[in-house]
Amino acid sequence: MQIHMPTHLQIHHHRLPQARWLPSPNCDARPDPADISLLVIHGISLPPGEFGGPYIDALFCNQLDAAAHPYFAGIAHLRVSAHLVIGRDGALTQYVPFDCRAWHAGASSFMGRANCNDYSIGIELEGTDELPYTDAQYTQLSAVTRALLRAYPAITPARIAGHCDIAPGRKTDPGPAFDWPRLRAALD
Ligand SMILES: [Zn+2]
Repeated sequence: MQIHMPTHLQIHHHRLPQARWLPSPNCDARPDPADISLLVIHGISLPPGEFGGPYIDALFCNQLDAAAHPYFAGIAHLRVSAHLVIGRDGALTQYVPFDCRAWHAGASSFMGRANCNDYSIGIELEGTDELPYTDAQYTQLSAVTRALLRAYPAITPARIAGHCDIAPGRKTDPGPAFDWPRLRAALD
């Protein structure tokens, strides 16, 4: 499948029109809808280390079959989401509009301020902590991040963090595999 991967994305009404839209019920209103000031990068794969299945969609839509894999029994009850997922091939899916609060970070803190879900946008890269993310993912993530920085100027390059950074000791994603200098260089 050919993935349309423009280098210039535009956000309209808190959505990326280029993304597949699959609304998640796991979201609510931000305490201050005008405060969108942090971007959190995650890594996820379901089951861990396997790519391309329907399970991330299912988890974010509360439709994950707990019996489909032993790992799923421990997570099928979770009520979680992210604003965006970027698949291994660079394909974009949006689950929550950016002005709403997605449930991606959990207990978290950035520069002394807790509850990062309140004021952040969460992007999940399909992957693991150890396996390199794909070129297609860096291309798409760079384009998306540039669009977010334009649309939400309170998000600056210094206010982009990993889940591991805002929930240290509890979360490790996107892991040592994620090439932070590569992302930062793409934002210059
Ligand atoms: Zn995460």
